[in-house]
Amino acid sequence: MERLQKVLAHAGIASRRKAEEMILAGQVKVNGKVIRELGTKVSDADVVEVDGVKLEKEQKVYFLLYKPRGIISAVTDDKGRKTVADLFPGRLERLYPVGRLDYDTSGVLIVTNDGDFSYKLTHPKFKVDKTYVARVKGIPTKEKLRSLERGVVLEDGKTAPAKVKMLSADKSSDKAIVEITIHEGKNRQVRRMFDKIGHPVQKLKRERFAFLTLHGLSPGESRELTAHEVKLLR
Ligand code: URA
Repeated sequence: MERLQKVLAHAGIASRRKAEEMILAGQVKVNGKVIRELGTKVSDADVVEVDGVKLEKEQKVYFLLYKPRGIISAVTDDKGRKTVADLFPGRLERLYPVGRLDYDTSGVLIVTNDGDFSYKLTHPKFKVDKTYVARVKGIPTKEKLRSLERGVVLEDGKTAPAKVKMLSADKSSDKAIVEITIHEGKNRQVRRMFDKIGHPVQKLKRERFAFLTLHGLSPGESRELTAHEVKLLR
């Protein structure tokens, strides 16, 4: 759901301020009824008309991006760093990442202009599994990994049960590779979970988001999701 003036502005009708004036002037209809309320929210299912002309809807597009490290999960950056939007040159849609991966985290990131879809995938109640592979400092004991599985207390609450698997451990370099699957999306959650057990993450990659993997993609590359994949995710 988005505010009517925002929808009009994004459809290229007018600036947000001008769109507000048009609403107040009674030029805008939603589902056949004149709307003069500025806060009115509309969804994709609503038919919006301006001066009797139906608003063309932007086509929804869905991409799976192999986010490289050194890119921010946003469309603009005040520090001038490269953003996800820079990886989609020439696309006219307003593309947003679904959730976030840290600047230094690589891996599966869905990028779309479908806000409802994005909301559903990021809301904790929908419990989408996300699998990460972390290289951590030191070699965590079984007990410590078990505590990650059960949930650890972070400053914003206890983490939900997770699946954790030690993939390899190297005594000589004092590093381990651990796979962890979580369905929450707290800020920097995986890094903070490993910090909590005393094994900071040195490298982090999201290998899987729901059933989507990086198969066939190199860092920075993306592909469109198939209609079937989009349907399964909904
Ligand atoms: N957890 C993190 O710590 N970082 C990410 O980018 C994703 C999950």
